Amino acid sequence: MQHWAMSQAKGTLYLVATPIGNLEDITRRALRVLAEVEVVACEDTRRTRALLEHFGIRAKTVSYHEHNERERAAELAALLERGAAVAVVSDAGTPGINDPGYRIVCAAAERGINVVPVPGPSAFVAALTASGLPTDEFYFGGFLPARAHARRQKLAALRDLRATLVFYEAPHRIALALADAREILGEREAAVARELTKIHEEVVRGRLGDLAARFSIEGAARGELVLVIDRVVIEEESGVEEGATASVAVRVAALEAEGLDQRAALKRAARELGLTRDEAYRRLTSERARSKSEN
Ligand code: SAM
Repeated sequence: MQHWAMSQAKGTLYLVATPIGNLEDITRRALRVLAEVEVVACEDTRRTRALLEHFGIRAKTVSYHEHNERERAAELAALLERGAAVAVVSDAGTPGINDPGYRIVCAAAERGINVVPVPGPSAFVAALTASGLPTDEFYFGGFLPARAHARRQKLAALRDLRATLVFYEAPHRIALALADAREILGEREAAVARELTKIHEEVVRGRLGDLAARFSIEGAARGELVLVIDRVVIEEESGVEEGATASVAVRVAALEAEGLDQRAALKRAARELGLTRDEAYRRLTSERARSKSEN
């Protein structure tokens, strides 16, 4: 077991989350820690200095990025061993989440140095919670592979996972990723969260095929993006489909035909489909609205 307890002589490593767009998302604790530490290790010193200046903080900064992460981690660990307080920040969001951070945490943990997270924004959490897709179980896959073959293999490996899938994706690849996901995972509900917390923030919800068409239009996918995809639909032994793409309306109608009132039918359908009652109600309403607009 790792020993994480604070040692008197050794310093402390703080992992400080910073905004992913809107500067109001900085926490008071982040500001205090950044003002108090001896060194702020940052991905891009110019970018972090601008952030610190915005909040009137003077701090010594050193670079800590993917190209010097290994050597820097050892140097920072030596500093921490001598009792310094060091903060790690990335360009945006939570350090260590598809950003440098992991190596310095390992180096600190190995040396029994106290590691303190200072939580705050992370794009994948913001996207998942705003997507409207189930949040009870999810898989965060970081960036999907850039190459088509590897991307498709990755998606195929996740096809049967009963969890909402969350990925970071680049604007010039989002349409391809959506089309691959449609082909490999089958049609599912999904959401693309774009420019979260910024002026052009939007969360576009729809089926994979529709989103692929929408984001293949030139200019539709500007900025930073998170892709969220609904979990697999499983055919249960009972013959009832489970999951987000199963039709709540169809099941409710069948149960009503068996004599249940709407309330009881919805409750039963929710249980059979593995949904909360609120979720089932939301889907029932949107499915009925969709079928009305299609007729
Ligand atoms: N450490 C960051 C975090 O905690 O979210 C992630 C860093 S990763 C290098 C950058 C990717 O995160 C972007 O390419 C995009 O996919 C996603 N991202 C970051 N900021 C975002 C935002 N404001 N809106 C949507 N996606 C964002």
